[in-house]
Parts: sequence; C-alpha cells; structure tokens
Amino acid sequence: MTITVLGCSGSYAAASQACTGFLIQSEAATVWLDAGPGTLANLQRHVGLRDLTAIVLSHEHPDHWLELPVVYSAVRYYEQRPPVPVYGTAGTLRLARALTPDLDHAFDWHVIADGDAAVIGDQQWRWSATDHYVETLACRVDSAGSSMVFSSDTGPRWQVAALGTGFDLALLESTYLADGEGHGLLHLSARQAGVQAAAAAAKRLVLTHLAPGQDREAHRRESLGAYGGPVEVAAIGDCYLI
Ligand SMILES: [Zn+2]
Ligand SMILES: [Zn+2]
Repeated sequence: MTITVLGCSGSYAAASQACTGFLIQSEAATVWLDAGPGTLANLQRHVGLRDLTAIVLSHEHPDHWLELPVVYSAVRYYEQRPPVPVYGTAGTLRLARALTPDLDHAFDWHVIADGDAAVIGDQQWRWSATDHYVETLACRVDSAGSSMVFSSDTGPRWQVAALGTGFDLALLESTYLADGEGHGLLHLSARQAGVQAAAAAAKRLVLTHLAPGQDREAHRRESLGAYGGPVEVAAIGDCYLI
C-alpha cells in the first residue's frame, strides 16, 4: 500500500496547508480517507476524481469532511463517472444531506459504525469508535499482507490496540504536546501517540493533526521518547510505502 498525505493540519489549516486527508492506494483500489478543507486540490496532484474507488470519512467535524459538498458539484456536473461510494457515519450523512439534499446523484453512501468492516477493492477496512466529542471512527486497512491504522481524532481513553497490533504504519493524531494534557480535551498529545504506538507494537509511527503553530521537531522528539521506534511528522505530499 501507498499512503500519501493530502493534508494534516489539526482543526484548521495553517498557511499553505490543508486539513486532514490521505490517499490510500493499493493494487486494485484508490481510497480518499478524510476530505478535509484543502485536500481536493492536493488529491488531484496524484489522481483524478474518476480514479477514486471510494471516499472514507472518519467523523463529522468540518476539518475531516467539508470538501465533500464541493466534490458533489465536480462529480454531478463535470466528471463522467458513476456515484462515488462513500463510507461515513450517520451524523456526517445528516450534515452532508443538509448541504446537498440530492447527494445520491454523486455518492453511494454506506453508513458505518463501531465494529463495522468493508472490502474496498483489494483493501479490507475495519472501524472502531474513538473517544471524541461526536461519533468518530478510527480505521484499520489491510491489503496484500500490509496493515495500517489511522486514529482520526481521539482522547486517551480509546486504544489503538482495539484494532489489533503489529501495524506496518500507525498514523496517529498528535494535536499538542504533553503540556496540553489533562484539560479534558479529547485529542492526543505527541507523548500519548507514542505510548499508543508502542502499546500496539507499530513498526512505524507518523504523527498528524498537529494544530497550527505547533513545533514539528518537538512533537517528533516527544513521541519518540514514549515510543522508541521510527517517528515522522506528516507533511503534504509525503508518501509512505508499506
Ligand atoms: Zn480534527
Ligand atoms: Zn474531531
């Protein structure tokens, strides 16, 4: 599998950045995971909308899905392709319908929830509900013997290991540093991401969802201290081959 970063700013995009979005590519599937504001333009540097096998949305917070109504216009009026399969929560569907009432012209929506699984081309997906303000689904993707996990947004009460262990790549939220812990916020610090990666015996850790203004090197160092394995901080255009 190849995982490409389309955007990785947490909550809102910093200058020249984009909110959360990744491209998950395997031999027989091209999946857009989270469609945060700014990621549609970056997606098209790699693939066209006609090449998409599916879109997967982790939760209804705007920084994770708000390109979708824009994609609707592209698919409905400009791109010659059948409706795009979308996997997202019931809450995200409700909001999407408010903006695009006839979304079925562009999307074939599959409501997903905790414990669900789906096969998308040659990718096997599984979801687990995290510790967040709204229904939020972390995911595990397996293809051709490789595995990755994406935490989406979560507080420390959810465990990556809920989706298994021994991942080739763990893509984990790192919104702030450890000095931001303990205020009841349902996000992960760099330290907590490192602890989670170690507990799940992940072979490689990539930090994402850093809030604008955060010090990337400080995040890398702090999570490395808790994890001990290789740590990278996501940047637009980065590509991970697993
Ligand atoms: Zn977020
Ligand atoms: Zn969120």
